[in-house]
Amino acid sequence: MKHRGKGSRSVVVVGAGIAGLASAFMIREYAGDAGESVDITILEADDRHGGATRTDHADGYTCEWGPNGFLDNEPATLELVKRLGIESELMKADESAANRYIYHGGAMRKVPMKPPQFLVSDILPLSAKLRMAMEFVIPAKHNGAEETVDQFGRRRLGRSFASTMLDPMVSGIFAGNTKELSLGAVFPKMVAMEREYGGLFRAMFAKQKEAKRSGTKSGGPAGPSAVLHTFRDGMGRLPDAIADEFQGSIRLGARVTGLVPREGGAGFMIHTEKDRFEADEVVLACPSHAAAEIVQDLDGRTAEALRAIWHAPVDVVCHGHHPDEIAHPLNGFGVLIPRSEGIRSLGTLWSDSIFPGQAPGDRKLLRTILGGAHDPGIANLSVDRLHDTAHRDHRTVMGVREEPRFRTEFRHPHGIAQYTLGHLARVAETERLEYDLPGLHFTGASYRGVSVNGCAKDAFRVAGNVWKREEATV
Ligand SMILES: Cc1cc2nc3c(=O)[nH]c(=O)nc-3n(C[C@H](O)[C@H](O)[C@H](O)COP(=O)(O)OP(=O)(O)OC[C@H]3O[C@@H](n4cnc5c(N)ncnc54)[C@H](O)[C@@H]3O)c2cc1C
Repeated sequence: MKHRGKGSRSVVVVGAGIAGLASAFMIREYAGDAGESVDITILEADDRHGGATRTDHADGYTCEWGPNGFLDNEPATLELVKRLGIESELMKADESAANRYIYHGGAMRKVPMKPPQFLVSDILPLSAKLRMAMEFVIPAKHNGAEETVDQFGRRRLGRSFASTMLDPMVSGIFAGNTKELSLGAVFPKMVAMEREYGGLFRAMFAKQKEAKRSGTKSGGPAGPSAVLHTFRDGMGRLPDAIADEFQGSIRLGARVTGLVPREGGAGFMIHTEKDRFEADEVVLACPSHAAAEIVQDLDGRTAEALRAIWHAPVDVVCHGHHPDEIAHPLNGFGVLIPRSEGIRSLGTLWSDSIFPGQAPGDRKLLRTILGGAHDPGIANLSVDRLHDTAHRDHRTVMGVREEPRFRTEFRHPHGIAQYTLGHLARVAETERLEYDLPGLHFTGASYRGVSVNGCAKDAFRVAGNVWKREEATV
């Protein structure tokens, strides 16, 4: 048995994805700020750190396993980067990445980013635009009942907007189904905008007015407009930089199987397949389905809630081409594809258009996402079929004429957490167990935000809880 932290607070973090690494780092940072001493061990089931946040470099291409960047509208990730001293390695998305496309009605259409562009765009028929304009006068819902994203979209902005714009946008972020996802769990800001201002347009106008008065920036319904960032070496740099800080404290190949409260006092015994560890605090930063197995014998009710947080399978396909082989100029961020188009891919990012340098000089890198809540069967496709499917879609959507010159794929059988109706109650169940067992913490993309930003923000919350610092947010 490994005894941790005699004379100092001991912490075991389960999972060395970005959530676990960021939590470990912030727990140590807060300890330093308070002059406390802490002994942290990170237990990781896999044979490497990073989880889904990982970058491969092959044949001059930068290929991301999972996240290709993070937005700068959430201070937590930037604060982490600053504390790690890797700010100079940050790369901003190219300005042209502000161009975004939707493949709709069998054609590529530029997404209008400003109201005047929207009025003249052909992305929606006039009747749908008029229906959207009515959002201003549609009364707010006051009964507090949980709604799906689709129900909210249809109620406030109309059926056409919900299927043409909202559905691909939600696929792009959550690989999710708008008819299943809980609005309050995935877009809490929208719920607040309706509650506080009476509607989305009213809230935007009020915020713009406020921003003008205070001389700050305001943005769309999701908050201030934001710029995507990565690192010169790709997103894998973030977990790598944190892992460097914990050399000797990360145990790879250490799958945690169970957890029991320590006899006669606070703290826990943590069991892996081969070892036992002891700690005052345990941070479960593995996905909820893994956390369910770990707490099963401790609290069956929480384990059941954790199992109900489904992670949709997602596959990433990267294809390299010569620009002459592609009809579309790929002058932007990429293209999203509504499910109504009957195309299997959810969308394609134009990696080197977003971050120049992610493909060799005379090549283009297409990064296509398939699967998600609409299409969990993707996980059963052979690798060749997966590439053929992506290539067929590239032909249709972007006019790709030749077979890829470079290809690779990353498969995520438990890809992205689906915050479906009832999600907030499931998270509350984890909070109940945290309350019953002080020293136990749940974090990661399964709970309060699926993005890197969501994980980073939650790392500050967890560190605050470990050190009982109420002001511990950024
Ligand atoms: C294809 C794809 C594209 C994405 N794109 C973006 C994007 O562009 N921007 C963005 O912000 N986010 C994006 N995301 C989401 C982002 O990847 C996640 O927010 C983030 O990686 C989740 O980190 P995590 O640490 O919670 O989980 P993970 O990265 O899954 O890490 C969890 C770790 O726990 C380990 N583990 C599991 N069970 C155990 C156990 N029993 N014992 C010990 N260890 C265990 C796992 O091996 C893993 O290393 C994307 C995700 C995917 C899949």
